[in-house]
Amino acid sequence: MAGIVVIGGGIAGSAAALALHKAGFEVAVYEAHPGTGADIGAFLTLASNGMRALAQFDAAEAVAGIGFPIVTMSLVDATGAELATMPLGEHDHPLRRYRCLRRAELAAALQQEVQRRGIPIRHAARLAAVTEDAAGTTATFADGTSATGDLLVGADGLHSTVRSHLDPATPAYAGQSVFYGYTTEAEPHGEREGITMIRGSGAAFGYLVSPAGETFWFARVPGPAVAAEQVAGATPAQWREHLLPLLRTDTTPAADIVAATGHDLMVTNALHLSPGIRWRSRGAVLIGDAAHAASPATGQGASMALEDAVILAKALRDADTFAAALDRYERHRRPRVERNIAVSAQLTSGGPGPTSSAVGNAALSRREPPRPDDELNHLLDWHTPLPALALRESGARDR
Ligand SMILES: Cc1cc2nc3c(=O)[nH]c(=O)nc-3n(C[C@H](O)[C@H](O)[C@H](O)COP(=O)(O)OP(=O)(O)OC[C@H]3O[C@@H](n4cnc5c(N)ncnc54)[C@H](O)[C@@H]3O)c2cc1C
Repeated sequence: MAGIVVIGGGIAGSAAALALHKAGFEVAVYEAHPGTGADIGAFLTLASNGMRALAQFDAAEAVAGIGFPIVTMSLVDATGAELATMPLGEHDHPLRRYRCLRRAELAAALQQEVQRRGIPIRHAARLAAVTEDAAGTTATFADGTSATGDLLVGADGLHSTVRSHLDPATPAYAGQSVFYGYTTEAEPHGEREGITMIRGSGAAFGYLVSPAGETFWFARVPGPAVAAEQVAGATPAQWREHLLPLLRTDTTPAADIVAATGHDLMVTNALHLSPGIRWRSRGAVLIGDAAHAASPATGQGASMALEDAVILAKALRDADTFAAALDRYERHRRPRVERNIAVSAQLTSGGPGPTSSAVGNAALSRREPPRPDDELNHLLDWHTPLPALALRESGARDR
C-alpha cells in the first residue's frame, strides 16, 4: 500500500483522507491548528454537488447531521420587491439538498469521520517545507519533525505552503470585502429553509434563518480591500457603522439585520488565484483552495474541494502509476474549477447585483455545456472508473 501524506485537515484535506482511505491507500493527515475550532466565524452553503461528493466516501449522513437545509432562493431588489423565487439544487433529496453550516462545524465533522475510521491525524503540525527525492516526498514541520510519503497532497488552503513548492502564485484581491454575521435579535424574515438574496444598491446582501431562529447574513461590498490592521483591529460596532449607511438607502431588511447584530460580525477580503498555476510534481499535488481558490460569489469553494477529493482518489485508484493518476486528476478538474474562478470573478466585478451563491451556480452550469449534471454525477460516482482524457479535451497543462 502506498503512503500518502495529506497536508491540511480542513475540508479538502479531511475529505481527501476519507476518499483515499476508502480507495485502499494508507493516509495520514497533518493539520497546523491545535484543534478544530479555527475560523469559527465563517459560514458557507454546501451545494448539491458537494453533498453528492460527500456521499461517495460515505460522509453525507455525518454532514447532514449539522447545519440546516436550504431548499429555495428568493431574489429581492433594493425596494424589497421579490424578483423571483426558485427551488435550489436537489431540494427533494434529504442527503443532497443544499445545507448552510459554519465552516468549522463542517471541518470538525469531517475530522471526526477521519478519526472514527482510524486514519491518523496530527494537530499542531504546521508544514514548513517540502522536499522530493528518490525516497519519496517529505514534509518538514515547523517543530522540526517530518513525515515522508510516496505522495504528498497539498490541502493547506488559500495561503498554501505546498503551493509555494510548486508555483510562485499568491492569491489576489478580487474586488469585494465580505462581511458576515449572526444574530438572534433580528425579526426573522424570509421563507423557512430559504435564502434571500438582495440586489442592494450598495452591497449584495444575503440572509437565512436557522430552525433555532438565528439569522445568518453576509454582505459583499465592492471597493478597495480592507486593510489588514482593520480586519484584525476594528470592532463589530465600527463595522456596523461602516455598513449601515450602505444598506439604509434600500427598503429591505438588510440594515435592520445588521443593526441587530452584536459581537458576531466579521470581515474578510475576497481573494482568488489566477488560473493556470502548476498543480503537481512527481510526488506532490494540490487540491481545494490551495489549487483553485475562487472569490466566494458562486458559493462553490467547499463543494469543489469535496469534488476534488473524490476525483483524486478515483484517479489514484484507477490509474497504473501516480504520474498517470495525477495527470488524469488534473485533466478532469482544471476546466471545471477554473471556470468557477472565472464565473465568480465576473460576478464579483459586476458590483452589487444578483450575485448570490445559487445565482452563481446557475451561471456556472449555464457556462458549462460540456459537463451537464449527469456527466458530472457519473464522474463522481464511486463505482464508475474515471476515464482517461485526451489533452485537447481537458485544458490541463502537460508537464
Ligand atoms: C467569506 C467566505 C464565504 C465563503 N462561502 C462559501 C460558500 O457559501 N460555499 C462554499 O462552498 N464555499 C465558500 N467559501 C469557500 C470555502 O470556505 C473554501 O473554498 C473551502 O474552505 C476550501 O477548503 P480547503 O480545505 O481547501 O481550505 P481550508 O478550509 O482553508 O483548509 C485548509 C486547512 O489547512 C490548514 N493549513 C494551512 N496551512 C497549513 C500548514 N502550513 N501546515 C498544515 N496545515 C495547514 C488550515 O489550518 C486548514 O485547516 C467561502 C469563503 C469565504 C472566505
